[in-house]
Amino acid sequence: MDLGVEGKRALVCAASKGLGRACATHLAREGAIVTITARTEETLSQTAQAIRDETGAEVSIAVGDMASAEGRSNALSACAEPDILVCNSGGPPPGDFRKFDRDDWLGAFDGNMFSAIELIRQTVDGMIERKFGRIVNITSAAVKNPIPALALSNGMRAGLTGFVAGLSRETVRHNVTINNLLPGPFDTDRLRGGFLARTQPGQDINEVAAAAASANPAGRFGDPDEFGAACAFLCSRYAGFITGQNLVMDGGDFRGTL
Ligand code: NAP
Repeated sequence: MDLGVEGKRALVCAASKGLGRACATHLAREGAIVTITARTEETLSQTAQAIRDETGAEVSIAVGDMASAEGRSNALSACAEPDILVCNSGGPPPGDFRKFDRDDWLGAFDGNMFSAIELIRQTVDGMIERKFGRIVNITSAAVKNPIPALALSNGMRAGLTGFVAGLSRETVRHNVTINNLLPGPFDTDRLRGGFLARTQPGQDINEVAAAAASANPAGRFGDPDEFGAACAFLCSRYAGFITGQNLVMDGGDFRGTL
């Protein structure tokens, strides 16, 4: 299937690894001109080169923290008028909400809610003028299936979801869609880091991870490549009638009928 994104400019945030990288790789495979961002220049440059080598696509980088105005400005300098915007950032730390203070909440707000809102604010009107835009926010299955230890994530990502629910109905008339992808457990550094934190002395992290994978209805973790493919489809010409949606990718772990 030709997704119709060849030559489109795609800004994919927090994309030197994991889910963001998979989204950037799939868009590059489809011929998009891709800009990827992350805080660590070395890994970001290596990833950009790997995507170029694999796909032959034009890939540029922008170093910076998506939670900061400077990081977002770097991103938009490298990709001034994106046709495709994938909003992503690191997840906030887990913990008991009783121990979080205002700064903790504001940090999660900056990273997981405001960063996406601000990037959308700065790009959506250009997309509307050009009559094409695809915005995908990487949020979390926890928006639908909350994880008590992820209070900061549950709260801030739900806030972003509410914002998108309203705006996405205004932009779709102009062929600009906004959707959220909600990852459950995908096999990335972030997921492995979580297991490492929960592994007790004497326990083997691989056994802890295998037990968690086996408990999922799919009997495994998600492959980031599957996530990237779903993102590329939501960015395609065929997805112009899909907006304001929250696609849970969790192997069926959320047990709701709808
Ligand atoms: P990952 O494998 O750890 O990759 C994170 C990527 O984001 C790296 O490229 C990292 O590079 C970059 N990054 C982190 N913080 C950043 C920031 N503030 N500004 C710019 N770039 C930043 O993580 P992942 O698993 O792909 O997760 C991506 C998002 O999905 C996170 O928000 C995570 O909470 C959420 N999520 C993941 C899962 C899962 O199972 N994997 C499940 C639910 C939700 P630098 O460190 O160099 O910046």
